[in-house]
Formats: sequence, C-alpha cells, structure tokens
Amino acid sequence: MSRFPKLKFSIWLLAIFVRMSNESKSFSVTFLGTGTSQGVPVIACSCDVCQSQNKKDSRLRCSVLLEYNGKNYVIDTGPDFRQQMLRANVQSLEALLFTHEHKDHVAGMDDVRAFNFKQRKDMEIYCSEAVEKALRREFYYVFEANKYPGVPAVNLNRIENEPFQVNDMKVVPIEVMHYKLPVQAFRIDGFTYITDAKTVSESEREKIKGTKVLVVNALRREDHISHFNLEEALAFIEDINPEQAYLTHISHLFGKHEDIEKELPENVFVAFDGLRLEMNH
Ligand SMILES: [Zn+2]
Ligand SMILES: [Zn+2]
Ligand SMILES: [Zn+2]
Repeated sequence: MSRFPKLKFSIWLLAIFVRMSNESKSFSVTFLGTGTSQGVPVIACSCDVCQSQNKKDSRLRCSVLLEYNGKNYVIDTGPDFRQQMLRANVQSLEALLFTHEHKDHVAGMDDVRAFNFKQRKDMEIYCSEAVEKALRREFYYVFEANKYPGVPAVNLNRIENEPFQVNDMKVVPIEVMHYKLPVQAFRIDGFTYITDAKTVSESEREKIKGTKVLVVNALRREDHISHFNLEEALAFIEDINPEQAYLTHISHLFGKHEDIEKELPENVFVAFDGLRLEMNH
C-alpha cells in the first residue's frame, strides 16, 4: 500500500528534474538580419532580387538574437536594430556583443535606450578595443561626463581573443580577417557565428572545429576584397565540416533565395530574416 505513493513521489521528482535540466539548457538563435551593408532590397534598385515577392529575399542588416537559458543577447546593432527588436518582439535584452565597427554592425546602438528605460540599468556591451574606440567616436554623447538626459546608458566590457563569460553563457571569440580588419566571430557551445570574413587562420579554425551549426558570410558569387564569396564560403564550410551551415550577409547581386539554395550542398542553407534555430546543447 505504501509503495504507490513512493513511486508517485519518485516520478514527480524525476519530472521536476527533467524540467529543470531542460530549462537550464535552452538555447535558440534567431536571424534578425541576413543582408549585406545596403540591405536587400537596395534603395532605388529594380533588379529581380530587389523586386522579388518572396519574403526571404527581404534582408535587414546582419544581426542574430541568442536566447540562452531564458536571457536574450544580440550580436551587432546595425541600422535596423530598432525594427529588428520590434519585429522579433524582444521584450528584454541582457547584453550586446559586437563583431566589428563597420556602420552596418553598430549604427543602431542608440536604440538600446528603450531597454535602459524598461530595465532601469545600463546595457552591457562586449567588444574589442577597436570597436570601443569607434563607439566612443560615433556615439560620443553616450560617453560625455555631463550627459544630456535620455542618452543611452552602456557599460563597456573589453574582450580580447580569449573566452569570456556573459552570465551563464561561455563565449569563445574567434578572430577572422575582413581584408585587413580583425573581426570577432563567436562560438557558443555548438554554435559559431562568423560575419564579414575573408580569411581565417589555421589556429582560429581549430577553435571552430566540432561546431554543429556554423553561420558564415557569403556575399555573392563574384570575388570580393573583404568578404567570402560563395566558393570560398563553401570551401571553408567543408574544412570545418559542421552538421549544418547557414550563409548570411547576402548581397542582392547573389540572386534569389530559392535559386541559391538549389545549388548548395545538402547541409548548407541560405539564412533568411526570422529563421530560428533550436540548438540542443
Ligand atoms: Zn558587414
Ligand atoms: Zn537589387
Ligand atoms: Zn564589415
């Protein structure tokens, strides 16, 4: 007679444990933007891609939302940051991680104010020295001694090429080269996000190996001085050999989403705005 309550209690404990361990391991990635610096469609362009009716051919500037154990993080705040936060209905934001200082990756930083007001705290920013210099230059009013009321409130956390921790999320930076400009790529568990790369050294590739999901920039088919083209991106993916790879930072010159996908290997896809990946880590 007493065995059943014990069994029930054990099942209940097990259910709680499974629920807790699932909750403590949630990780998803949402592409907020997958376009190159001009976005797609390009202003005043009448090409087939810019005129496409397929929503997947509409690309805001590159950014991803990481939902990690119930907390939100964003990589890069391009000019579309405000629109991206609204579109993805992001209600809270813990921190920003920056890849590099180009305008299409930082221009929207001013709009963290909405989170400052709502969360009543500074926005944590993780960036390299070079990005910090650019932020201090381009958003000088944020860093003045006597700030105008209502300007963004940020707390800068300098990153070097060493793993760092943001709350319970371990981030491994990977330095890739964007022509002559170092860019930070980020690996979080089995997910690696690389944008604006043209070359990646052997030693940095070692840090990426074993990743399950690899995001990498592929601008177009033709060569470009500072970005992987399709051929280079595919060679890089083959070298890393992830389970799945997604192309991002797409130019309107690349072609339509559907047409590009037809040409790709089985485990390679073109990312699109709104695509969400569940990372089981
Ligand atoms: Zn870019
Ligand atoms: Zn176009
Ligand atoms: Zn760039």
